[in-house]
Amino acid sequence: MTYDRFDLSGKTAVITGGNGGIGLGFARAIAAAGADVSIWGTNPDKNAAALAELQALNPSASVLLCDVSNEDAVEESMARVIDRYGRIDACFPNAGIGSQNQKPFFEHSSEDWFKVIDVNLHGVFFTLRAATRQMVKQGEGGSLILTSSGTAIQGAPKAEAYASTKGGMIAMMMSLSVEMARYKITANAVVPGWVETAMTERAFGWKKFVDAVIPRIPMRRWGQPDDFGAIAVYLMSDASRWHTGDVIKIDGGFSIF
Ligand code: NAP
Repeated sequence: MTYDRFDLSGKTAVITGGNGGIGLGFARAIAAAGADVSIWGTNPDKNAAALAELQALNPSASVLLCDVSNEDAVEESMARVIDRYGRIDACFPNAGIGSQNQKPFFEHSSEDWFKVIDVNLHGVFFTLRAATRQMVKQGEGGSLILTSSGTAIQGAPKAEAYASTKGGMIAMMMSLSVEMARYKITANAVVPGWVETAMTERAFGWKKFVDAVIPRIPMRRWGQPDDFGAIAVYLMSDASRWHTGDVIKIDGGFSIF
């Protein structure tokens, strides 16, 4: 027996950074639950591999080459999604990058600071602005699901730019959840703990880091992208219509230990 409020048939989602890691974890689950999924990324090889995987779950999946820090590219990509599927029901602004140079704060380059903010914050703004415009026009509600980070609520040395964007995303989400409620659009932030993806590859290969962090995760393992599938289905589904403005931690217990 299935719980039909989790059925996503007839709904369309955009997932930025959906060609790998947590975004692909979201995409696999919602495609399997019946949603039409458009994933966006900047790497053509990753895009092609992820598309093949998703189309095996749901043939309607598609992919777009889009740099979310480029305002015009985001507008054009959203228009292409609407053209193809006729609607947008969920938007996952998930694309993100870490700081490029792990230096002390007083040696951070302005270039690095702006690059991280361009992708992680401006990109989220461009994406959500275009998606909400369409959702409001449709008049049938929708779901905004932002991928924040534990760095928004815990100290992250040498990663102040990254942490600032992730904190900014939570603030953006809370304001949106209030403003968009009149349109029956919900907004929530997912806060992942330490998840094994391309972004964390370097840290997870560093013994000192692994030895210090694993004992602080009560579940005693790194998160995997598929640990994020169920929350994506739930937040996109009709089952979560009254759930908005929340910060949902999925971190194996890291933040409370
Ligand atoms: P990931 O595998 O490196 O995923 C990052 C995704 O963002 C990729 O699909 C990448 O695609 C895309 N991306 C990067 N720059 C982009 C741009 N300018 N335009 C469009 N797409 C872009 O790492 P991940 O861990 O899954 O990260 C996903 C999200 O989770 C990020 O927002 C990250 O901050 C957040 N997060 C991760 C962790 C963790 O432990 N892994 C913890 C907390 C939060 P391309 O390579 O094709 O550009």
